[in-house]
Amino acid sequence: MRIRFPRLRARSRQPELVCQQVVELVTDYLEGALSAEDRQRFERHLAGCPHCTEYLAQMRETIRLAGRVAPADLTPVMRTELTDLYRRWRAEG
Ligand SMILES: [Zn+2]
Repeated sequence: MRIRFPRLRARSRQPELVCQQVVELVTDYLEGALSAEDRQRFERHLAGCPHCTEYLAQMRETIRLAGRVAPADLTPVMRTELTDLYRRWRAEG
């Protein structure tokens, strides 16, 4: 089954993914939903980024425990601080 997912088109011509893009792509990656090109870029980023490698490992473990990909239930390490901050702002507002 081949499903066409919207391609991540970089605003500027960026050959490398940034960490945030990797975080956003990780579930697609684990579901095998990335195009070959995006997958390559994803893996190239991982090769040079221990943070994202760790993130992917945590994601895999979480999915293994949960038995499915459930991004809403996850707390991505790379976003934890920002999310907490954001939540606090909203709670106060
Ligand atoms: Zn990274």
